[in-house]
Amino acid sequence: MTDHSSDVQLLNRSEIGELLERHGITPSRALGQNFLCDPFMVAKIVRLAGVEAGDSVIEIGPGLGSLTLGLVSAGASVTAIELDKFLVPVLRDVVNGLDVKVIEADAMELDWKPILGDREWRVVANLPYNVAAPLVLDLLAGQPQLKSWTVMVQKEVGERLAADPGSKTYGIPSVLRAYWGTAKVVGNVGHQVFLPRPRVDSVLVRIERHEQALVDVPFEPLAKLVRAGFGQRRKMLRRSVSEFLTEEQIMHAGVDPTARGETLDVHGWAALTAELLSGDGGTVSQSE
Ligand code: SAM
Repeated sequence: MTDHSSDVQLLNRSEIGELLERHGITPSRALGQNFLCDPFMVAKIVRLAGVEAGDSVIEIGPGLGSLTLGLVSAGASVTAIELDKFLVPVLRDVVNGLDVKVIEADAMELDWKPILGDREWRVVANLPYNVAAPLVLDLLAGQPQLKSWTVMVQKEVGERLAADPGSKTYGIPSVLRAYWGTAKVVGNVGHQVFLPRPRVDSVLVRIERHEQALVDVPFEPLAKLVRAGFGQRRKMLRRSVSEFLTEEQIMHAGVDPTARGETLDVHGWAALTAELLSGDGGTVSQSE
């Protein structure tokens, strides 16, 4: 493909407004449609994502292409997954002639394997906020080629994903994310960079997938224990995970049975999971 990346003009507020008006599009709240309309913010996201010429980038929810154009102008080859069939033709027009493959699909239902192949990818996206947390966690669990993530999400979701034990926001997504990688909130994003302006605050989160699994237990039984442990947040572990482990087993795993789930890091959860699997041979908890 011809390299037009240096000619790319980023979309500003009046251009986004004009595209919406010309195509008769009313942004859908149900689909989380708040479009980036600030070229400086787009450039900042691309920079924070560390995108370099030749990188393969997955963008989920490209909308009208604001961020897509920023990624292409950095020399990336972009595969963009957009659900809204009314936006897709407009997006195709905006990125016409550039190194962008547009796929009309629901990112939650997509068969990712043929798209990703064996290559390594970066994910850079202003995610649809209503599905951001399950989307990130499902893709971390299912698609190891997605190595490095820089995504804009609702502030509370970003803080939860990035939280460490002891923090007020530490919860199920924090532990499940820690199984797969490290995460950090790398920036706050003001309402003024979107059209229309969202009602919630936004942050940028950077996630780096571990090269090697951090803990030596399978994911599913760990996730099940974590969900039980946080399901009854202020309860001690001896109560909250009693369906799976006795007090003796918790102690045998080197964990204090009177501790609460929110104080335990992923290594603690892994020790409990190992204990669970040694107790039932792994058969019950892995096959459910
Ligand atoms: N990236 C664009 C930008 O920054 O201007 C748009 C971001 S907007 C917050 C989220 C986008 O995700 C919308 O274009 C919406 O149609 C799309 N979307 C919503 N749910 C989706 C899904 N399940 N799969 C793929 N795209 C989705």
